[in-house]
Amino acid sequence: MTGKEFMLASLKAISQEIIAHEEELNRLDNAIGDGDHGTNMARFCRIILQDLPELAEQEDMGKILQHVGMRCITEIGGSAGPLFGKFYLQAAMANMGNSCMEVANWVVSFEEGTMGVSQIGRSVEGEKTMLDALFPADRAMQEALEEGRSFQDILLAGAEAAQKGVEYTKTIQASKGRAAYLGMRSIGHQDPGATTIMLMLQAMHRLAVEMQAE
Ligand code: ADP
Ligand code: MG
Repeated sequence: MTGKEFMLASLKAISQEIIAHEEELNRLDNAIGDGDHGTNMARFCRIILQDLPELAEQEDMGKILQHVGMRCITEIGGSAGPLFGKFYLQAAMANMGNSCMEVANWVVSFEEGTMGVSQIGRSVEGEKTMLDALFPADRAMQEALEEGRSFQDILLAGAEAAQKGVEYTKTIQASKGRAAYLGMRSIGHQDPGATTIMLMLQAMHRLAVEMQAE
């Protein structure tokens, strides 16, 4: 569960999940942005799927995450590219030279990535961005780790917290990103970036449960 196998399987599962929701993510972005979030993310995910055989040759978990981060920056257009890129590059730095990732490494990596997004986005929670899914998921996973819960339960806690965060984005006004131009009119709409984070965590949780059952 902690080796390269889970890393590669999770990249595949996340990519497939995002591609399956491309239209929905575009629809959400269309309401409060420019309608390209699904297209942006799906293009990146298709490239990651193509890169998987090459990544399977790589033994360093940090280098795998670094490759994904660089792909985000070069392949995802708009503001999401540097934001997701920073997430993965920050997570990569925490794992350079590691040939496997223990459960605690996954949680620390998620924390590092979240801080990276906050830093580069100059944004915090409550601004109707992906951080409204990232921060609560980070807290929930830290807590579950401290309680000694299983990897599956930690991911479930993260996915559930992200889902609540996504619901919360509907109730608030955007103060960052394109949606901020709408002011009060952004209220009532769900943030696409937060939705992507939720989908990623849900896919990872499902995969962890499936791999445990094997
Ligand atoms: P663009 O806004 O350039 O079209 P996308 O549509 O791909 O890029 O991504 C939009 C998402 O990026 C938003 O839904 C939001 O979650 C996230 N986002 C935008 N600005 C910021 C920021 N400053 N900090 C964190 N996340 C942000
Ligand atoms: Mg957009």
